[in-house]
Amino acid sequence: MATLIIHTNVLNFEQSKTLERKFGKLTAVQNHFRAEVETAPTHEELSQLREELLLDINVLPANFDADAIKLVISDMDSTLISIECIDEIADFINVKPQVAAITEAAMRGELNFEQSLTQRVSLLKGLDQSALQHVYDERLTLNPGAEIWIDGLKANGIKFALVSGGFTFFTERLQKRLGIDFTRANTLSISDGKLDGTVVDGIIGAKAKADFLIELCDQMEILMSQTIAVGDGANDLMMMQEAGLSVAYHAKPKVQEQADTALNYRGLDAILDFIA
Ligand SMILES: [Mg+2]
Repeated sequence: MATLIIHTNVLNFEQSKTLERKFGKLTAVQNHFRAEVETAPTHEELSQLREELLLDINVLPANFDADAIKLVISDMDSTLISIECIDEIADFINVKPQVAAITEAAMRGELNFEQSLTQRVSLLKGLDQSALQHVYDERLTLNPGAEIWIDGLKANGIKFALVSGGFTFFTERLQKRLGIDFTRANTLSISDGKLDGTVVDGIIGAKAKADFLIELCDQMEILMSQTIAVGDGANDLMMMQEAGLSVAYHAKPKVQEQADTALNYRGLDAILDFIA
């Protein structure tokens, strides 16, 4: 048996007809629907159905125990928030095209994340640190459902960790604003109020994200199976593979293919459906 989750509380006639024909009786649970099925649909069947019905539909992994979840870890840029911070910072000194070119080279696999971050940060050298505050105040917006999501986790006694290949300047402000339990990101080196074009200590890339999850599990004395990891990019995959449940949030195709579950229509609050 497998549990199917349909992340909506309203289904139109066409949607419910199609879903019931395929999966049998649907049950309303809090603000979504579920179905218990003998055989779980394949990845291909599921993605076809999502596109046909314009709905987020997921299958819970067979061994997933929602009641045991104690920690959710999330990426920041394009996951918790709607922007890529470094692109917006670069825009302040008109080097956005150069930064974007490096990002694309990394996406083509010509550079790894660490190399691409080093190169992009070097383009920010000399920038006044007040630009960071401008990006935070004027351009950084939470993705839909972010606050409901984090409040919902708190109400269920689940800790929340924010990890980012971006910068502590932003994770620390979001930590205060949203009451986030744990954060880790890159620290921009600043002297005399200006960016040096480097980051302090090691770079938070794919492995460091996964290591942070492992470290938090040790600290909290919980198992990896008691965690959920959420991300949108290739450098989130390593941490997502470690977690008990992985969620690709409005993610790159490669990430969606490898994650346990995907959300492409609903906001972050739909992640609460997994622990309902
Ligand atoms: Mg991201």
